[in-house]
Amino acid sequence: METGGWKNLGFSCFRSPASFQSVNYKKEEVAMIQIDEAMDIIRSQKVDWTSENIPIIDALGRIMIKNLISPLDSPPFDKAAMDGFAINSNDSSKKFKILEVISAGDTPLKTVKEGSCSKIMTGAMMPVGADKIIRVEFANEIDGYAVQHTPEPVMNVIKKAENLSAGDKVLDPGRLKAKDIGIIASMGFPEVEVSKRPVIGVLTTGSELKNPGEKLGSGQIYNSNGFQMSAHIASTGCFSKYYGIIVDDRAALFEAVAKAFSECDIVLLSGGVSKGDYDYVPEVLEGNGMSTLFHRVAIKPGRPLLFGRKDDIFIFGLPGNPVSTFVTFEVFVKTLIYHLAGLDYKPETYKGKLSRGIKRRDTERTEFYPVILREGNVEPVKYMGSSHLNAMSEANGMIIIPNGIAEFKEGETVSVRSI
Ligand code: AMP
Ligand code: MG
Repeated sequence: METGGWKNLGFSCFRSPASFQSVNYKKEEVAMIQIDEAMDIIRSQKVDWTSENIPIIDALGRIMIKNLISPLDSPPFDKAAMDGFAINSNDSSKKFKILEVISAGDTPLKTVKEGSCSKIMTGAMMPVGADKIIRVEFANEIDGYAVQHTPEPVMNVIKKAENLSAGDKVLDPGRLKAKDIGIIASMGFPEVEVSKRPVIGVLTTGSELKNPGEKLGSGQIYNSNGFQMSAHIASTGCFSKYYGIIVDDRAALFEAVAKAFSECDIVLLSGGVSKGDYDYVPEVLEGNGMSTLFHRVAIKPGRPLLFGRKDDIFIFGLPGNPVSTFVTFEVFVKTLIYHLAGLDYKPETYKGKLSRGIKRRDTERTEFYPVILREGNVEPVKYMGSSHLNAMSEANGMIIIPNGIAEFKEGETVSVRSI
């Protein structure tokens, strides 16, 4: 392990890997807190986070930070919804002289009067005097006249501002989806104001880890968290910076954390955050100047979760079991990312009826349990616990069993948090 950069870091308390190795860090027993308290701590962090205006073509997945207000009426004029002949709806003639042909984008020149019409294409502006379109299927065009053969039951016109008026709110702040980009473009905005995209560092700790593609030795497992976390970050529209696998060695971890602190806005570590002999993450983070804001939350999975801050850098130590890593990212890291953008993260939730009951003995923690929600039916998946990552393959949501609750009965209506 290369530790050459270490001495240049300027941390007076840890002059060398050797002296750091000798520090006898006393693990203090920090009280476990409830999930709501942990969320409050995240949401109470004050930060001076900036925003930027970016071209809408690049805005997919980014967090828009203000309401989007329409600067115009939609449509901006009475508009043909169908191809046909524009007439006045009070005109009971059956034969209409065609005054002009209006295509989409044209400005009509003629006024429609009794016994006359204008041939009009979908999307075109309605001519003065006309408020209805006889669809082409309901009339024949003969010698410059439209001859109606079947009654036209509907108007086929989209009235000015029928969809939206100038000044209306069109979008709430939030993560931009493809349809939102379309809506912003339809308002005529070439750019949108989004929150600064944080750089999120990922460190995966564990001497047992090997990367996919490498050969597993005795006692080793594949590193799934590094890839899962990086993908999870990308799915929130943020930049990820991966620092690889860090073996369970104080000095190696110290160096990697110091580097991540100098390059990132948020730093996520997986593993090494619990009470094992080689769980160096809490002490190394504090050794690098982080103040712990909470450590241990009454959740299942994910109890050893750690959250801290150093200046404007936020740090999560996520437990190493892959389902714990996933759940704690989903619940806590996403909340922080949105909070930094000035928003309150509201996960999508759906209601459904449990297909079988769930019972538990230990009710001390709030539990997240993977389920499949299908047509209002909530089916708990076969789930062996926080290392059982492939239990998540079919799951499309999690149900939340609050602390103090021992049982959800079959047929009970439950709320499913989509994942
Ligand atoms: P730890 O939180 O370090 O005690 O790890 C808890 C469990 O998660 C152990 O069984 C680890 O082997 C496993 N684990 C830790 N990191 C990873 C990772 N990056 N990918 C997959 N499993 C991991
Ligand atoms: Mg470990």
